[in-house]
Amino acid sequence: KLASKEFKTTPSTVTVGGVEIGGNRIAVMAGPCAVESEAQLFEAARVVKNAGAAVLRGGAYKPRTSPFSFQGLEKIGLGFLAGARKEFDMPIISEVVDPRDVENLAETVDIIQIGARNMQNYALLTEVGKQKRPVLLKRGLSSTIDEWLTAADYLLAGGNNQVILCERGIRTFETSTRFSLDISSIPVIKRFSHLPIVVDPSHAAGHYALVPAIAKAAVAAGADGLLIEVHPNPKEALVDGLQSLTPSDFSRLIGELRLVASAV
Ligand code: PEP
Ligand code: MN
Repeated sequence: KLASKEFKTTPSTVTVGGVEIGGNRIAVMAGPCAVESEAQLFEAARVVKNAGAAVLRGGAYKPRTSPFSFQGLEKIGLGFLAGARKEFDMPIISEVVDPRDVENLAETVDIIQIGARNMQNYALLTEVGKQKRPVLLKRGLSSTIDEWLTAADYLLAGGNNQVILCERGIRTFETSTRFSLDISSIPVIKRFSHLPIVVDPSHAAGHYALVPAIAKAAVAAGADGLLIEVHPNPKEALVDGLQSLTPSDFSRLIGELRLVASAV
């Protein structure tokens, strides 16, 4: 496997807009689940940047469980992301769900996100593998670590070697959290792969009250970064409001993370 330590023994790092992921520092990527308006995105960007986030997240294409839920602002949302990138001088990460949108996303964003539901979408992986743009590959909801690394091989085999893995929780019998964060995946990935790994505590938790503890545990376990949902006003969020941190909760969490690891 190209993603394995047997293939490459030294850790790989991915650099985006001066931010190194997989190096000595812990990269925090934060922002709203979905881009809802220019005002909402810019306000989110301002607060996450002030708190110390290195990368701005925001979904323009939203893969929703129901076809009747808000599907994202699509191209208009990408335009707002490009604006925020310039205004706040922050690299941006956004998800792609359709192979036909890959080239356009690769031109606009600094990191292309492949969502959990698309981890084994081989047409999408193949298309993203052709790009010279960093990619964050989320672990599938019901995927083993081996399947995850095999999916990463599609990207690496295509020539895209700027791959970041993201643990975001898996399906178990437990229902008190949205997904069960597999904390063990961090040391397992560090043991068997050269790729950097970040953790998304928001989708694992499903509730804002659980996010800080999971985020701190991930950093303590050796994660190279975090992907956290933050909304200027979570109660009004169109998507994932319950798991989104308020600006003040996010700021407090960054302070706490610095007690766990000085390099946040
Ligand atoms: C997201 O990051 O908003 C998202 C849809 O995540 P996941 O693919 O992990 O469910
Ligand atoms: Mn979300």
